[in-house]
Amino acid sequence: MTERLTGHTLLISLIAIPIRHSMSPTMHNEAFAKLGLDYAYLAFEVGNKELKDTVQGIRALGIRGSNVSMPNKQAIIPYLDEVSPEATLIGAVNTVTNNEGKGHLVGYNTDGIGAMEALKDEGVEVKNQIITLTGAGGAGTAIAIQAAFDGAKEIRIFNIDDDSFVNAKETATKINENTDCQATVSDLADQEAFKKSIAESSIYIDATGVGMKPLENISLITDSAVIRPDLVIFDVVYSPRETKLLKFAKEHGAKKAINGLGMMLYQGAAAFKLFTGEDMPVSYIKNLLF
Ligand code: NAD
Repeated sequence: MTERLTGHTLLISLIAIPIRHSMSPTMHNEAFAKLGLDYAYLAFEVGNKELKDTVQGIRALGIRGSNVSMPNKQAIIPYLDEVSPEATLIGAVNTVTNNEGKGHLVGYNTDGIGAMEALKDEGVEVKNQIITLTGAGGAGTAIAIQAAFDGAKEIRIFNIDDDSFVNAKETATKINENTDCQATVSDLADQEAFKKSIAESSIYIDATGVGMKPLENISLITDSAVIRPDLVIFDVVYSPRETKLLKFAKEHGAKKAINGLGMMLYQGAAAFKLFTGEDMPVSYIKNLLF
């Protein structure tokens, strides 16, 4: 590392809290080293309170770009100069570029792209497909919007009756107004409608985080009759690698049971391209970290 970091090294930041657990610094720094790019990627514990000063710091120091995670994905938008059409529709930014350090900050959202690339990597196309999706928070919204842009035929969102339910309704309206995809929202409490929807779908995506601590013993699908050999099941959680849902899906013969590692990798790869203009060596990173 001491040989690699010089007076010329350019910095990419990651601003979120908590963030020390993140795999992103390792992923990006290994990719920079592999390609011989003179960048370093560092995580900073930043919450909403420090956000304005942090964004000024990015401009002042000429930091070349930044990833943004919770709780800053929505809060950063007013401080940016431009926001991409996808990130505007999603209402959240996870990647910021700074044109050669000159201070013009543009926000993007690569979470949805990451999820779509992860599915493609498994040979799963969303075009013309009916998708049942649980979760309408940050991850669920990004996935719904990107899947709609990528040509999904229908997205049926099921959410519990909490704050995100309103968000689900807004997301469905945006999809119906801006794409050819048809989006609907239902209460997850209507289990018969949920099962019927999955029966009519080729892909079920769980973007709730259920399956991760402290909900590691819960799966939103509990009826084995729902699992079919032509049903793809995708859970955005990657810790644990195999959630209760994915274990259940495998045991009952789903076509595929995919965890969130690929989404993490490909959202990072899309950000890497925006930061450096280069393709992340994804196979190398996959072998190294996964
Ligand atoms: P969020 O808090 O914004 O949204 C959570 C969603 O889950 C909401 O729709 C909420 O209504 C729903 N929900 C919460 N508890 C539930 C329950 N008990 N039953 C049913 N639904 C419930 O969170 P987020 O930022 O969207 O993150 C969700 C998950 O996605 C997290 O586990 C996060 O780690 C993961 N994630 C993964 C990646 C990746 O690259 N793989 C990227 C982003 C987020």
